[in-house]
Amino acid sequence: MLSFFDLTPDQLTQRLDTWGEPQFRARQIWQALYRDLAASPDEITTLPKTLRAKLKAEFTFGSLSPAAEARSSDGQTRKLLFRLPDGKSIEAVLMGYRRRRTTCISTQAGCAMGCVFCATGQMGFRRHLSAGEIVEQVLWFARELKANGDRLTNIVVMGMGEPLHNYEATMAAVDRLNEAEGFNFGARRITLSTVGLAPMIERFAEERRQVNLAVSLHAATDALRSELLPINKKYPLPVLFEAVRKYYATTKRRVTFEWALIQGKNDSIAQARALAKLAAGLPCHVNVIPLNPTRDYAGQATTRERAAAFKAALESCGLPCTIRVRRGIDIQAGCGQLAVEEPTVTWP
Ligand code: SAH
Ligand code: SF4
Repeated sequence: MLSFFDLTPDQLTQRLDTWGEPQFRARQIWQALYRDLAASPDEITTLPKTLRAKLKAEFTFGSLSPAAEARSSDGQTRKLLFRLPDGKSIEAVLMGYRRRRTTCISTQAGCAMGCVFCATGQMGFRRHLSAGEIVEQVLWFARELKANGDRLTNIVVMGMGEPLHNYEATMAAVDRLNEAEGFNFGARRITLSTVGLAPMIERFAEERRQVNLAVSLHAATDALRSELLPINKKYPLPVLFEAVRKYYATTKRRVTFEWALIQGKNDSIAQARALAKLAAGLPCHVNVIPLNPTRDYAGQATTRERAAAFKAALESCGLPCTIRVRRGIDIQAGCGQLAVEEPTVTWP
């Protein structure tokens, strides 16, 4: 059965048309689910009962079954394990920081890119998610927040999977969330992170969304980057930077580079200088984060002092840099820690 959340507005209109429903119904249903955050037609009490029943008979309204939840000790981070209709699982995270409510969503079950320090890469690729499955993660948290009189402020596409490897579904999801008649979430409050699929970065640039782009760099020399991120052999640094420069030239949007600092690996002043050279003249920002622990990678997080020295080296070359605070580490909800493991708490 088709998921409602995989439909485009046009497809819904057409379907209702074939059922002989008046035109305004499509918009009414769309707004009830995407704007008022109804979880199923049962909650749309303004619809005739027969139409509610018909919708439920034709479409599914919940591809994600919450299977487990974990909350960080500070109560600010929640990680949800969702079971998909085919039995595969994904994780998504909700983070609270001051007035920010950010959800980190997945685009694939597992990931094919094999970055050595990433738990998702370590588990391998299971399958792509559909646009609906991506959208539903956001809606799930948005409904939860709404029930508490709160709302989502940011979306980061940084969960399990490589979004540009599942390009069509990811962009369909982003566009759906952005739709004015529906969820109406500003593209500028959405950030997408990629391991660096150069041709897809160029395509993304040409399509000119207002979505922010982050590129997982982690190393500024090809030998080291290929060791950490195998995809670098396919799209080495000169190719990647050509794509990123085109992205900037086309969109005039500043790129964020992500860098997980690993003690004695990529935290040298030489790496910082190499990065500054690669990025010379390119408006960008570097987000460094001490490496989060994962099961199959022995590397350690850089010390606070070395992280500060790395940041200072970048800044002395004119590259703005922020050291990100690690969050949700105690529940394996930090960057690169999402993988399907034993549930911590059983739902509900
Ligand atoms: N596939 C995309 C998005 C998901 S990963 C990408 O790789 O960009 C989100 C971020 O976490 C990426 O920057 C990734 O490189 C980083 N990351 C992966 N493993 C990590 C770890 N163990 N510690 C810190 N960051 C990590
Ligand atoms: Fe995939 Fe991103 Fe993890 Fe690399 S860091 S394995 S691209 S999810």
